[in-house]
Amino acid sequence: MLGWPIPPPRKSVKTKLDFDKEREGKVYRLIRQGLLKSQHIVEAMLKVPREDFVPDSYRDYAYREAPLPIPGRNATISCPHSYPLFYEALNLGRSDRFLEVGAGSGYGAALACEIVGREGCVVTVEIDPETRRFAKENLHRLGYTDVEVVLGDGAYGYPAKSPYHKICITASCKKIPDPLIRQLEPGGRLITPMGPPDIEQDLVLLIKEMDGKLKVRFLDKVLYVPLRGPYGF
Ligand code: SAH
Repeated sequence: MLGWPIPPPRKSVKTKLDFDKEREGKVYRLIRQGLLKSQHIVEAMLKVPREDFVPDSYRDYAYREAPLPIPGRNATISCPHSYPLFYEALNLGRSDRFLEVGAGSGYGAALACEIVGREGCVVTVEIDPETRRFAKENLHRLGYTDVEVVLGDGAYGYPAKSPYHKICITASCKKIPDPLIRQLEPGGRLITPMGPPDIEQDLVLLIKEMDGKLKVRFLDKVLYVPLRGPYGF
């Protein structure tokens, strides 16, 4: 991704203790920066070992503010700060039914599982079969076996488990996909980067009000890989 230098691959030498310290340091920095606020999101970020969602050759960079390559075409694990950026704006919380578009490494889905808890539900859709396999293996190895890891174009959602309280698209779209708006519960929120690849995109939040009216707010400038398929690039 333009603007995000990817560090060179190297053999991992860090220990579990190194990663535990780095994770804690990262979480407290995100809190000080004002990006991370909610208790459930803080606890999830302290608990989920991000290094276990990163291929071995990039593992030592797990807590660096950089997207890191993962198996599949164009696939990355997004940089650490983007998760609180998205989840705080979504107001992701206990018992939410959550849909993620772009499973990538599975890290975002693991955080979401911790945040929504046992009463909630997490579905993640990935278009690339190799990436989907990587996400599913990571999630299962770490015990996140309830999350549904679906292969397909996430712009069409996953009607079987709809409606969702919160939807998060982790690739940049051309237009907010109508099927996702339909699968959003009244009162629900959807967040997505919007705009062509390789230049800064708009991070937008869509709120579906109780009467079904839609409100869209611009939040920030971001840089994401493009969404594939008719709603993407
Ligand atoms: N949320 C991920 C990061 C995702 S990067 C994580 O936490 O690691 C963006 C991902 O979106 C890539 O894996 C890419 O393959 C996937 N993607 C792109 N277009 C898609 C589409 N139409 N449907 C589902 N996944 C898509």
